[in-house]
Amino acid sequence: MRRMATEETSGLEVRGLQKRYGNLVAVQDLSFFVRPGETVGLLGPNGAGKTTTLLCIAGMVRPSGGEIRWNGQLLGLERGRSVTLIAETPEVYAMLTVWEHLVFVARACRLREGWQRRAQELLERLGLSEQRDTLGEALSKGMRQKTLIAASVLAGTPALLLDEPMIGLDPRGQRELRGMLEELRREGIAVLISTHLLESAEAICDRVVILKQGRLVAEGAVDDLRQRRGSEKSLEDAFLEITQ
Ligand code: ATP
Repeated sequence: MRRMATEETSGLEVRGLQKRYGNLVAVQDLSFFVRPGETVGLLGPNGAGKTTTLLCIAGMVRPSGGEIRWNGQLLGLERGRSVTLIAETPEVYAMLTVWEHLVFVARACRLREGWQRRAQELLERLGLSEQRDTLGEALSKGMRQKTLIAASVLAGTPALLLDEPMIGLDPRGQRELRGMLEELRREGIAVLISTHLLESAEAICDRVVILKQGRLVAEGAVDDLRQRRGSEKSLEDAFLEITQ
């Protein structure tokens, strides 16, 4: 059963999101939520509106309508502090080391003294200790993702948006990303991932939201979606039927 949005919804909530580019309606009346500690997959064919949705939530594109809330509170222009978007090609500072990225965040967010221990622990948990003194320009995509995730968690982001995080990662990188998502779950961070890779979505997401031409066409736990279409269906079968 589809859950209705309420004032009490904990975590990230998108309500009636709209985005028009001129005459083109990229996202239309889109509502869904991501609870703290939950990983939700945003799926849909090319041009369905996934990236536009992430950009609107992160405050990087101005929505034409709708609301973004965290724990029921409207997120205004300061939403960049609450919600972090890691783009398909993660950007880091070329001339800062991994550790210097964390120092930068600690100073910008005026973290209390003692943050270094937490930062060191994050590097260890994310498997980034060996790259502590490596410059941003020398990091692979997976390492850049890890650096940005470590910086976001250190800054205290409650919600993380990842646009196509698996693309360009080798099998080890993909496994490491799955491990990182487990860490984020333990931290109670709400995670929203856009992806075309249905097998990965199946493996890592608690629920999925499927878009077609900017509209929500299905939402739920992967098993529920499959069963609604017949128990022997894979997520790929269900996805192709739903988005046909
Ligand atoms: P893909 O899977 O191909 O990355 P997507 O689901 O992320 O696609 P979006 O990139 O959000 O889809 O695009 C949704 C629609 O909005 C598409 O029709 C796209 O052409 C259009 N669009 C996206 N950005 C702009 C823009 N800056 N100006 C005009 N139209 C845009």
